[in-house]
Amino acid sequence: MSTFNASGLLPRELVRLDARVADKAEAIRQATGLLTAAGCVRPAFEASMLRREAAADTFLGKGIAIPHGMVDERELIQRDGIAVLQVRDGVDWNPGQRAHLVVAIAARSDAHIGILRRLTRLMADDARLAMLARTDDPDALIRALAGVEIAPDEADAPAEDFARRFDWVVDYPSGLHARPATEWAETARRFAARVRVRHGAEAADARNLIALLQLGLRCGDTVTVSADGPDAADALATLRIVLAGLSAREKADAEKAERKRRAAAGAWQPPGAAEVVAGVGASPGLAIGRLHRLHAGPMVVPDEPVDLVEAADRLHGALARARDELRAVADDTRRRLGAADAAIFRAQAELLNDPALITLASQHLVEGHGVAWAWHTAVEDTAGRLASLGNAVLAGRATDLRDVGHRVLAQIDPALARPAAAEVPAGSILVAEDLTPSDTAGLDAERVVGIVTAQGGPTSHTAILARTLGLPAVVGAGAALAALEAGAPAIVDGSGGRLFLAPSDADLESARAWIAAEEARRAQAAEARALPARTRDGHTVSIGANINLADQAAFAIAQGAEGVGLMRTEFLFLERGETPSEEDQYQAYKAMADALQGRPLVIRALDIGGDKQVAHLELPREENPFLGVRGARLLLRRPELLVPQIRALYRAGRDGAPISVMFPMITSAAELLALRETCERIREELQAPKLPLGIMIEVPSAALLAADLAQHADFFSIGTNDLTQYTLAIDRQNPVLAPEADSLHPAVLRLIGLTVQGAHMHGRWVGVCGGLAGDPHGAALLAGLGVDELSMTPRDIPAVKERLRAAELPALQALARQALAAPDAAAVRALADGGEGA
Ligand code: PEP
Ligand code: MG
Repeated sequence: MSTFNASGLLPRELVRLDARVADKAEAIRQATGLLTAAGCVRPAFEASMLRREAAADTFLGKGIAIPHGMVDERELIQRDGIAVLQVRDGVDWNPGQRAHLVVAIAARSDAHIGILRRLTRLMADDARLAMLARTDDPDALIRALAGVEIAPDEADAPAEDFARRFDWVVDYPSGLHARPATEWAETARRFAARVRVRHGAEAADARNLIALLQLGLRCGDTVTVSADGPDAADALATLRIVLAGLSAREKADAEKAERKRRAAAGAWQPPGAAEVVAGVGASPGLAIGRLHRLHAGPMVVPDEPVDLVEAADRLHGALARARDELRAVADDTRRRLGAADAAIFRAQAELLNDPALITLASQHLVEGHGVAWAWHTAVEDTAGRLASLGNAVLAGRATDLRDVGHRVLAQIDPALARPAAAEVPAGSILVAEDLTPSDTAGLDAERVVGIVTAQGGPTSHTAILARTLGLPAVVGAGAALAALEAGAPAIVDGSGGRLFLAPSDADLESARAWIAAEEARRAQAAEARALPARTRDGHTVSIGANINLADQAAFAIAQGAEGVGLMRTEFLFLERGETPSEEDQYQAYKAMADALQGRPLVIRALDIGGDKQVAHLELPREENPFLGVRGARLLLRRPELLVPQIRALYRAGRDGAPISVMFPMITSAAELLALRETCERIREELQAPKLPLGIMIEVPSAALLAADLAQHADFFSIGTNDLTQYTLAIDRQNPVLAPEADSLHPAVLRLIGLTVQGAHMHGRWVGVCGGLAGDPHGAALLAGLGVDELSMTPRDIPAVKERLRAAELPALQALARQALAAPDAAAVRALADGGEGA
């Protein structure tokens, strides 16, 4: 969001005092005249403003109107500016609504909350408003509007194409849902060109996520993507790659979901004639439980008006905190459940940037409603509109919108937070109208045995999360659920998409036998997971888990983890609005060590910077944060962050926790030596035992200097996510280059090889805790390269162990040699199919 300096945005020539206007159209004409004369817009902007008036209400309240142009016609704006007409007698804007200050906005920026906040502040001051409506001093108006940020609009785009264009047939099996649409919008926003996506008579600005979703694109639909502007050709070329590039992932996701659905033995049939509610199977498995209704009835949000300035500030603050929270949830979900599931919450954060939603809420505030009521009503109206369009994808977005809506509501007033789904009694089959992704991600799988929803589809975000959590789920079961009696026994069949009511004893017995057989199969698999990752010829690789919270330890161990190879401590900082104290940190590290019951625990010192920004640390903005003050560089510059963390770690160590400490983003021995010195000083102060101090190898310089660094580090852990980004010079978040950011690239593997050699030369062990460790083929190569430990997302452990246990070390070493000599990542990947005689 950009903030404008009034002297640049609102020079005196853009203020007209005592304007005489006959009607709204003339007010718009005069305002456009000022903007045109100042070189801000082309004359055609006037027609664009009038079209905007026909599409939506621009009367903010208390005598202020904010006319602005169509979002899709921003090329008419030559530079940002606002024009102010003071209409002392007022002009009818809508029936019964008179405007005394017409603030005409010409802005190419995406700012929207800022201007409304500014204007709402002004609106809270009736005396000042009255003065501004009559003043002879143009500077009074300029001062009042100083720092205004500009609102974009959200009008529908006309369904015409620009000259440059390409056609594309949507081949995403689940249509254009929020996750790929977020990537379309993010890509389009990187260009100055206007980009339009048209399907039939409907068109959307490609930068606008909601507009894209409202196209309701399904697999097989043809779209025309067109662009206009100086970099239109580049924008289209890039979008073409992104659109098509996402196909492979979308198809793979859909196939994976389908495989999981089919993999479930859903053939259970009740022997009796139990009553059935039919829905759609969304997550496989069978469970017996008692029905527990969640969020019965609509939410009642009281309307408690407060002072307008306070209201605008509270809404602004709540939105910012909800965004931070979503970032933390996405981060946690990525590490716990995987990147695809985490993308759900990234897409949700995008919904909070919808200017139409913010404007609607602001209008309610100006009308005198309370913050929570204004927000909730705006969300419900918008979600209701999305849900009523008869399109499953949009209905899914309505659920997401309500979900983020509740998150913001809880920030506005904690009393409005919905009861967590975790508070349900043990053995519950959750019955709900619909479950939000936040509800589902937060479910306690120990207490909830299954899920049945009236709405939703098998590709909904809730279904995706339920599958990841391994909970049987039935969606789309319809209105029949409303009549069900809470507490009644039932059987949910997530494979067949059925809920069996009032099961007979014979039904229950048969279901129990089926579940027991399934559990026996799982137990067998668990037994295999508990075995060490030892090759057939006796070479053992240690297996760790990447987890951040103590309550994830039991699951990690059940998946076969022998310890924790990476505890990312930035999560402690990201999830709260303030820096955790030394005591908080000590408790977190101790809790993790206790949960691991003596198993090794590698804790990484704070790795902030790059993609992990923490608002409350107020770090300076950097042009290239990945190349900036990140990881160890930040720790060395901010002792107030480093010292409490090291103290907390040594205090946990003093209690006997088998902790190793590792530092991220090390590029030279000097950094490591400086950090070691601080650690040693603190250790002596606390009279704590020595803890192994290691480093992450994440940049090429560290890999190249491994033999030198190994003299000062007790161990290495290779972060292949960053090592790949820095070796290949590919931003790890860039969706266009994502397919090329392959950790199997021979250049990355050679650096790993060098790291292992350097470490072993000095008797140090080497782990890998980046994503490559969790890929069975990657794990085989890493073992062949001599890596001693692999640490990964818990769910990846069984497949990696299975791969290594089936292999022999010389074959893995031969495979690694072949990979090092391969020309590119594709060739290395192809070695997976060639087999290496393991
Ligand atoms: C890595 O870079 O591979 C790594 C494990 O660290 P992070 O993903 O937290 O940057
Ligand atoms: Mg890293």
